[in-house]
Amino acid sequence: MKMSGEDKLIERIRRRIPSATDGVLRLGIGDDAAVLRPVAGTEWAITCDQFIEGVHFLVDVHSPEVVGYKALARATSDLAAMGAIPRFFLMSLMLPASRSGRWLDGMLAGMSSAAEHFGLTLIGGDTAQSPGVGAHSSRFGKVADGKIAINLTVLGELETGKAVGRSGARRGDIVFVTGELGAAQLGLELILRGIHRQRRWKPLLTAHNHPHPAIKLGRWLVRQRLVSAMMDISDGLSTDLARLCRASHVGARINEQRLPVVSVPDGLQAKGIDAKALALHGGDDYGLLFTVPRRKAASIPSELFGTEVSQIGEIVSGNRVQLISANGKATPLLPKGWDHFS
Ligand SMILES: [Mg+2]
Repeated sequence: MKMSGEDKLIERIRRRIPSATDGVLRLGIGDDAAVLRPVAGTEWAITCDQFIEGVHFLVDVHSPEVVGYKALARATSDLAAMGAIPRFFLMSLMLPASRSGRWLDGMLAGMSSAAEHFGLTLIGGDTAQSPGVGAHSSRFGKVADGKIAINLTVLGELETGKAVGRSGARRGDIVFVTGELGAAQLGLELILRGIHRQRRWKPLLTAHNHPHPAIKLGRWLVRQRLVSAMMDISDGLSTDLARLCRASHVGARINEQRLPVVSVPDGLQAKGIDAKALALHGGDDYGLLFTVPRRKAASIPSELFGTEVSQIGEIVSGNRVQLISANGKATPLLPKGWDHFS
């Protein structure tokens, strides 16, 4: 029997991305809905993330492999921030007809490698043709060709009661971050300046293109019962720390000289790229920001699973977030990271 265009598309997706059933997943992709059988003593963390052409990526800058990888890495980072084990995902894909050939194959290859890396199985989704410039057919007749939009819902499993939210930080807790701050934003600055194709700067794009969600680190922290609050840094330290403090009804004092600041080559500093600003406000790093009660802080190693873990300050009462410079001067740390509605 002849398959419809959409059925063929779904079959192509299913063939490329891991989708096997297991003890928890009774019924996977291809039916009206997936069926999960929860295991006693476990809970599920669920979140969704949009990755949209022209908003989060550009087709003439980011390869289809990067788009597929990064879309899933961003979503998975939110599971890591809860301390969950990534298990399943669903994909809603809006695609212009012009991207349904080679571009889609590349995107699926990137997404498939991310899925294997993070331990994720595709359990369902939906596809639609995107309206916009360049004609294609729709139920409304011929319409213009449009943008790519990838919407991913990810599900993670964790032990009952172990999930760590943003609201548990208390006065006196120590503030930590993982990884280097500002590395992904440095890559974006190169793109914004149109110098990302210069061979000498290419290695600086890795953090922007291939972020690593801190899955093992998040798991380790919740299993050791060390953290009082945790989130991932997606929109920049200043913006995400403000969110954590607001949720916990506390303030924070951050020591500037303790920040794990990305190193910026001299040639780029000369172009006005400021490492400190990248570290404070740069988005897309996907490290973890977490707080630990002071008596437990010594149990946090300075490196875990090959990632640097830095103690950057402390939680205080009140609602002020301040940056303390090397000479002890305190200035307000205002949220200047990404604001999607600014
Ligand atoms: Mg997040």
